[in-house]
Amino acid sequence: MNGRSGPSILLDIQNIDLRIEELTLTREELPEREEIKQLTERIKKLNKELKNLNQEKHSLKLDQRRINDEVSILSDKIKSKEEKLYSGKITNPKELVGINEEVISLKSKMDEKETELLELMEALDEISKNLEKKERHLRETLEEIKKNELELAQKEKEIDQEIPELKNKRNNLVKHLDTEILNEYENLRKEKGGEVVAVLKDGICSCCNMQLPSIKVDSMRDSSIFYHCDFCKRILVLPQNNHK
Ligand SMILES: [Zn+2]
Repeated sequence: MNGRSGPSILLDIQNIDLRIEELTLTREELPEREEIKQLTERIKKLNKELKNLNQEKHSLKLDQRRINDEVSILSDKIKSKEEKLYSGKITNPKELVGINEEVISLKSKMDEKETELLELMEALDEISKNLEKKERHLRETLEEIKKNELELAQKEKEIDQEIPELKNKRNNLVKHLDTEILNEYENLRKEKGGEVVAVLKDGICSCCNMQLPSIKVDSMRDSSIFYHCDFCKRILVLPQNNHK
């Protein structure tokens, strides 16, 4: 640090501050954070859909059981009527015709129930496929969240390591700088934000890009002095030679 001029130190401090600012912003805006938010929303939606599908499946299963019971009752009735019909015990033709008509009507009901059962099975099959698809989607989304969380943690960790290192460096630099100029620098940072130490290059301020009067430029020869830009009032320093 010995032999280094104040402006050169201040430029380093500014670079550190800009880097800290950049890192802080990067940390806040890590894309994984937004991604996790969206994936979490997707999971919420999937869980809701799964819940609805399961309810629907349950209700269809109940229907299936009820219709199966009805089929079984119908089947018993048909069996008993047919036994009666073919037992030989009934000889009255009119009664026989009556029983036969009942059997035909019961069988027709039975057909209806069986069609209903088939439709139910198809619907259940459809729901099962849908459930499977959504469950797979859910598993994939959960994995994606996990992946993003790991990446987010890793990136945060890197930033959280770099910032204290930078602050440490900054603290060491600050010791070699006049309090007065440091205060001015910090006030300017609060007021203007971003870069407040400009470098004079070819007579032009590197922050506001204005050409300074040549008479002023000619008077600026000491790279250890803090000048000011006539236009933007920022601290103006001369280009720093690294090995001075
Ligand atoms: Zn300027």
